[in-house]
Amino acid sequence: MGAPFLFWVLRGMADIALPMKLLNYINGQLNEPLSGKWLNNIEPATGLVYSQIPDSTAEDLQAAMEAASAAYPAWAATEAAERSRIMLRIAHLIEENLELLAQAESQDNGKPVGLARVMDIPRAAANISFFATAILHQNTETHYNQGHSLNYTLRQPIGVVGCISPWNLPLYLFTWKIAPALAAGNTVIAKPSEITPLTAFLFSQLCIEAGLPAGVLNIVHGRGGQIGQALTEHPKVKAISFTGGTATGKVIAATAAPMFKKLSLELGGKNPNIIFADCDWEDMLNTTIRSSFANQGQICLCGSRIIVERSVYERFKTDFVARVKQLRIGDPSEDVNIGAVVSEPHMNKILGYIESARQQGAQILTGGNRVQVPGRCANGYFLEPTVIDGLGADCNLNQEEIFGPVVTIIAFDTVEEALDIANGTPYGLAATLWTQNLTRAHQMAEKLDSGIVWVNCWLVRDLRTPFGGVKQSGVGREGGWEALKFFTEAKNVCIKL
Ligand code: NAD
Repeated sequence: MGAPFLFWVLRGMADIALPMKLLNYINGQLNEPLSGKWLNNIEPATGLVYSQIPDSTAEDLQAAMEAASAAYPAWAATEAAERSRIMLRIAHLIEENLELLAQAESQDNGKPVGLARVMDIPRAAANISFFATAILHQNTETHYNQGHSLNYTLRQPIGVVGCISPWNLPLYLFTWKIAPALAAGNTVIAKPSEITPLTAFLFSQLCIEAGLPAGVLNIVHGRGGQIGQALTEHPKVKAISFTGGTATGKVIAATAAPMFKKLSLELGGKNPNIIFADCDWEDMLNTTIRSSFANQGQICLCGSRIIVERSVYERFKTDFVARVKQLRIGDPSEDVNIGAVVSEPHMNKILGYIESARQQGAQILTGGNRVQVPGRCANGYFLEPTVIDGLGADCNLNQEEIFGPVVTIIAFDTVEEALDIANGTPYGLAATLWTQNLTRAHQMAEKLDSGIVWVNCWLVRDLRTPFGGVKQSGVGREGGWEALKFFTEAKNVCIKL
């Protein structure tokens, strides 16, 4: 059912006009922008425009708000079991369309299609099914004061909520927000990144096919400063769940705070990957290749600062660089390890950091350049995976989020020094520790300024666990009950006995 439907939509649109037009999903229907204005969407691997998206304005937002407000009372009153059934249908449709969605994600974002097949799209389906079933197990607290009173807590949906997501894991993070919001009984206005809108558009087709009632989910496309800002500002949006850059998070917080909206902010990272001499060397090397360069290093959780015990520093450099040189860079629709970075401005920003490292006298151990991929990808935004040595912990490359295939290596002598370096940035999202000494691992895990600590692993996820960062990496936690709590209001009911 699913795949032919989506292919029909894509092919049908391509027949009518090229480049294909992606549409807003408002009140259960696919709509053109009310302003009639469109934005170009570029394929990172080729540098060519291949689709257009609505340049939505406050008028489109108002239409989405009317739809979401009208749908709210019935959706909030729908039994959890029924909400769950509809959401599970959406999850199954994602699974049925896995190949098409993986290809779309790869084309839109530049990531290797193999990665989208095993990570992005399965996880999008898992996000929906996880919260569709979690809501069936949700329970609330009672506080019994013997002979005096009985208190119980209601956890009620908030109303219309806004979900804003970034370009690096497009459908994965889009669904990570929408799923708990819908499961808890809210109606949603969601804004995917204008840089990677395609799978959110395909997702709207799947919601229609799954029979999600009109207005329960509305997807508006367009620029962050315009439609994203309008969504954040709208007085009827009760909560904003945002994932993206720290600078944008500050703007959203400043806009939403005076209106007392609930806010969940998942922001940038500058994550330490701390390696002790006693670690399982092979496991560490294999995982560090992934934690450095998966998705071209464009995962907020990537370990971009590799902090290595001095006794194994030279050995690490030799072994790590040898493996980095084996990574295959190329057309993301083929079997490669490294695809294109997401856009030309982003590529230039990353190259700017590499140039800055050179000017500071750093050694580029491998990489450092743009790559010319022959054939259809000749104008694509490809960068070599880059390893940089010889920079101080306080320099810009070790303090600012680069968000590309660039890692630095820093040596340490003592546990205290490793902690100082690890904690010495404005960020605090995820840290990784490699050691066989469990006492040391527990002690350091307590002391790391970080929302997540991975010991002898990276990006091992259990969707029940709290997910989020400290300091400038964000406010609040997603995942499991944390997300369902965010998307509900607690109300205490007290009965005098
Ligand atoms: P971004 O902040 O530029 O954009 C994120 C989203 O916000 C986009 O949809 C954008 O259109 C929208 N937006 C922009 N300005 C807005 C405004 N004024 N009001 C409302 N919405 C607005 O981020 P990006 O470049 O798309 O993503 C990369 C960043 O996301 C990196 O910093 C990365 O670390 C972060 N990220 C964090 C996590 C996490 O879980 N902590 C996960 C993935 C990515």
